[in-house]
Amino acid sequence: MTIIAGSLKDRDASVIADIGRLRFSPLSLIGGRGSRLTEEGGRQILDLSASGGAASLGYGHPAIVEAVEKSVRDAAGASLLLYPNEPAVALAERLLGTIPGSGQRRVWFGHSGSDANDCALRVVTAATERQRIISFIGSYHGNLTGSMGISGHTAMTHTLPRAGTLLLPYPDPFRPEFSANSVLELLDYQFRTTCPPEQVAAVFIEPLLSDGGLIVPPTGFLAQLQQRCRQHGILIVVDEVKVGLARTGLMHCFQHECLEPDLVVFGKGFGGGLPLSAVVGPASIMDHAPAFVLQTTAGNPISTAAGGAVLKVIEEDNLVERSQRMGKRLLDRVSDLAAKHAIIGDVRGRGLSIGIDLVKDRGTREAVPVTTTAKIIYRAYQLGAALYYVGLRANVLELVPPLILTESEVDEGVAIIGQSIEDVFAGKVSDADVLPFMMW
Ligand SMILES: *Cc1c(COP(=O)(O)O)cnc(C)c1O
Repeated sequence: MTIIAGSLKDRDASVIADIGRLRFSPLSLIGGRGSRLTEEGGRQILDLSASGGAASLGYGHPAIVEAVEKSVRDAAGASLLLYPNEPAVALAERLLGTIPGSGQRRVWFGHSGSDANDCALRVVTAATERQRIISFIGSYHGNLTGSMGISGHTAMTHTLPRAGTLLLPYPDPFRPEFSANSVLELLDYQFRTTCPPEQVAAVFIEPLLSDGGLIVPPTGFLAQLQQRCRQHGILIVVDEVKVGLARTGLMHCFQHECLEPDLVVFGKGFGGGLPLSAVVGPASIMDHAPAFVLQTTAGNPISTAAGGAVLKVIEEDNLVERSQRMGKRLLDRVSDLAAKHAIIGDVRGRGLSIGIDLVKDRGTREAVPVTTTAKIIYRAYQLGAALYYVGLRANVLELVPPLILTESEVDEGVAIIGQSIEDVFAGKVSDADVLPFMMW
């Protein structure tokens, strides 16, 4: 056994591979309760990241503790692949109840957003017998072979796109290099030339571009895209991994644009911190063949019991409405900050999914360098809040806190962000401080 003396961070660096981590601050954890994380040494940190959106109900939520404890203590097997189990079937029934639609529908369970998008990719190509896929520059669908190959994030240029993938620009209202119309025209041109629509299986969409910079698409763009797809028999896969299940102030983010997706992909907050993902779609697509997308412990009773608790708490505690209300408070408070700090070029989002776009100059909207973003994150950590940055220019502070965040925690979080901006401008964080934490 290798044991290295020192801090948790140093021990982590000695034994955990450096090919699968995204660290934006020195925060190392020994516990967590509610919206607060406990750092080594015992300091409490307000978590504005929900651990990448996974901790939808925060940490140590009693409903999750109870559901998980029960399903571990009296475990209905460990594999949905091998035996039906009560928590998984009940969760599938409950999840289907939240998604508008009719006819025979099916749920597939996995462990992560990545495996769920791989599953979706496999079933759409099999069901349509078409090989091409459309997705977007800036989108992130995961890190397995399939999902990585159809992602368009600039942090992923270490890998080649999947053959047959067409990446389109995602229209960004704040930096309108491509308007919604010009993207649709580009798509039409592709259809007329090198991407025959009858060869396209599906379009994968993030209904709010998350890791690509918290971009809310222009109203009507997704509906027009859907209309194009319908004309050509192209399936619509909506990736709700980061923005689904109450995060954006509606149960599903695609409902903001009245989309009617064929497949919906869930992950992150769905498991409330446990590994859990799902793909939902018509039986005609999903019931492809036995032994088609197998994982032994997928749909296990522990993760699915946690997912059941998440959906139950969302319903019973009205977290959809709460996300809308707290999200508005957060957006308003951050907009107030923008009046004092010219570095805040734009504040945008839906519900509790808010982005703060940092600019050098409000006129040109040029993004700040990544060191500036990293310094603000670092200072916020020092002052007691955890958050991340996203975006193709690494200049967007991402606020995706637990859905249980309280009003006073909203105010506390915003005050820390305001103070962090002030302190960074006062030179309280050095380049050397943040060098190890500029992750994309
Ligand atoms: C994070 C993310 C994924 C991948 O989920 P993992 O659980 O990290 O595999 C897929 N799609 C979107 C939109 C995401 O934000």
